[in-house]
Amino acid sequence: MDRPEIILAPGPTPIPPQVLLAQGSPLVYHRGPGFGSIMREVTERLRLLYRTETADVLVMTSSGTGGLESAISNCFSPGDEVLVPVAGFFAERFKALAETFGLTVLTIDYEWGERIRPDEVAAALAEHPVKAVLLTQSETSTGVIQPIERLAKVANEAGAMVMVDVVSSLGAVPFEFDAWGIDVAVGGSQKALSASPGIAFVAISDRAWRATHEATNPRFYFDWATYKRFADLPDPENPWTPAISVMQGLQAALELYFQHGVDAAMARHRMLSRAVKEGAKALGLDLFGEGLDDNWTVTAIRSPESADADTISDTIRAEHGCVLAPGQGPLKGKVFRIGHFGYVSELDIIRGLAALEMTLESLGHPVKRGAAVAAAETVFMESRTP
Ligand SMILES: *Cc1c(COP(=O)(O)O)cnc(C)c1O
Repeated sequence: MDRPEIILAPGPTPIPPQVLLAQGSPLVYHRGPGFGSIMREVTERLRLLYRTETADVLVMTSSGTGGLESAISNCFSPGDEVLVPVAGFFAERFKALAETFGLTVLTIDYEWGERIRPDEVAAALAEHPVKAVLLTQSETSTGVIQPIERLAKVANEAGAMVMVDVVSSLGAVPFEFDAWGIDVAVGGSQKALSASPGIAFVAISDRAWRATHEATNPRFYFDWATYKRFADLPDPENPWTPAISVMQGLQAALELYFQHGVDAAMARHRMLSRAVKEGAKALGLDLFGEGLDDNWTVTAIRSPESADADTISDTIRAEHGCVLAPGQGPLKGKVFRIGHFGYVSELDIIRGLAALEMTLESLGHPVKRGAAVAAAETVFMESRTP
């Protein structure tokens, strides 16, 4: 019997049955009260997740990258200067997007896996003020959670707007739109919330709205002003036909998320992260990236000398139906990545670690059978004791 694959990748994450049922149920027509109440509920819950009382939150049918593109096209004109600290694949993508729209991009380049240093960003801004700083909270390619609160502080002190890719972090790790002084934060349905891919959302500050009034970059499908006009109808709508089924799923996913609440989700992510890291260490593997204690979304693990990382992720998928993520860019073949956020349980982690043990053994890397599983169980049992 073909079973669904065990997804331990950093997105899309596994989808709960309640969400599958909701998105498989009859379509709610996208104009009128039914969809209006879905829009209202989803938007209100997203505002709670963003921790904002002041920002507008717009939802759009698109993957996360479309949401990022909307930030660039709505807030800037060709020639506007932005600063992008680059320490991984998704910061590179943000930079490429900005360049595509004619922005002048200054960068601070880090080794992949490093944490961005707020004092270096402050120094760069003092030397050369820019209109905005573009940041990635969870740099999914390396597992590193960047210090957004401190980075936003130095950007604000220099008068720059702060735009953050929170696609793989919103709902997984702490984020404070209002308190940290964020202007734009872009999230997606398919990561920590465990809905299907297909919806992006953006939180937009007053300052970012003001920037849109002067911005001349072309936009039509992603024009925030159009989304806002439809969102403000008595029964909120999308301007274009939205991914209705995915929205029905996202509504169910947010309901599940808030059943236990934000704090419980964060605590779970932290525990699963520790279990994966302790499990990998118990197999003698080295963990990749700075700030491991804070990196609750994805863990990048260096492959042992004896095996290429792509071979490990390919083999574990072929032999055990377990999907891990390979390394990207300069990390290709050097690390593999385990996602541990969203609808992932303790036993999912145990299954993944067991599959990893057997895979390493079959690839000729000596492991003590059960060592990673035992280490993870220890983390789980310890987090149970009061
Ligand atoms: C997954 C992800 C994205 C979005 O990718 P899409 O495939 O466009 O949804 C953007 N940024 C980060 C950090 C991500 O992890």
